[in-house]
Amino acid sequence: MSAVKSTGVQKMTDKKLYTLAEFSELVGGRSDLICRILDAGDIRPHNIEPDHIFKPFSVVINSLRFSDDDIEPFKAEIRRRKFEDFKVAYADVYAPDQVPGARGLEVNPGWTGILENYCNQLREWRADGWSIKLRWAKEKFGSIRIFSNIDHRTMTPLQAFRLSRLDEWARRRSLQTCQECGRPGRLRWGSHAATLCDRHKHLVGELRAEDGVILDPDRQKMDKEGRVHGWPENFLGRYTWTDTDLGLDEGQTMDLAKSMEIEFRPFLSPDLRLDGTDLELADLRKKLLAVDQAIGRHHWVKFQLRQRGYEIAIDTTEPCSTVDEIRRDAIIAEIEMIMSGEHV
Ligand SMILES: [Zn+2]
Repeated sequence: MSAVKSTGVQKMTDKKLYTLAEFSELVGGRSDLICRILDAGDIRPHNIEPDHIFKPFSVVINSLRFSDDDIEPFKAEIRRRKFEDFKVAYADVYAPDQVPGARGLEVNPGWTGILENYCNQLREWRADGWSIKLRWAKEKFGSIRIFSNIDHRTMTPLQAFRLSRLDEWARRRSLQTCQECGRPGRLRWGSHAATLCDRHKHLVGELRAEDGVILDPDRQKMDKEGRVHGWPENFLGRYTWTDTDLGLDEGQTMDLAKSMEIEFRPFLSPDLRLDGTDLELADLRKKLLAVDQAIGRHHWVKFQLRQRGYEIAIDTTEPCSTVDEIRRDAIIAEIEMIMSGEHV
């Protein structure tokens, strides 16, 4: 009996396990790229420290073990992160420079769809006789910047207009698209700025005060007092295009209103759909944060949209406690002061 038992144990421990360095070599990827995949959190290796995102790097590295079962998922993810399928499919319109140190696709894979749409447009222009190609792309302030092989001095005014519009479409689209997975996202401010969905927002670490307020750093600025201004001084014409002008499907995006509906769900009336400009909503968000800080999240405090701004309603059918009932009027008064801007 004991022999059978020990064979079983032997089989378990026989599974070949690899350290990070061994596994990186096995799948042909650099260890920093593997770590990036682990940080994103969608693919788990054979063994990793629980809650590894919050643990010291050395502890996580020592806990890492990969098995043969990990090879295919990691190889596929490395392919995705290196845009290998994209490079094959768009070889006719993607022409990176062939010199040492040339730049490539220096963005994350969630934006592959944006690059594809961009190249589809280049193909149409090429069919019309304009020999334009994609050269390289990078991420800046949480958005994509795409560079073509066209010398701007040789373009006709119409070509310059079209290309500028396409560049702005891509930049604006990327601010609505999670750079990791391509699902609806928004700009997150933490240790750095990055456009991410709820699932991947941990990648910027702890969020800063600007988070959720500045959604497009090229078009919004925050002054020392924390007020947001719509247009920077280095104003460029392309920033005046609306999302509709650029053909962006607003229904597909997670804009400020959508993210606030999620963030402040305990406060907001269930049928409330936030509406308004980004600046109005940024102001409302600031007030909701102040309400949150002042009174905490009592589930029966609701905001509803009325003809003139947002109204506070108190749902008394399910008060949290008699203390809440007694404090009701004081809480309403406090919220009213915050909402009227007298106390933030
Ligand atoms: Zn994501």
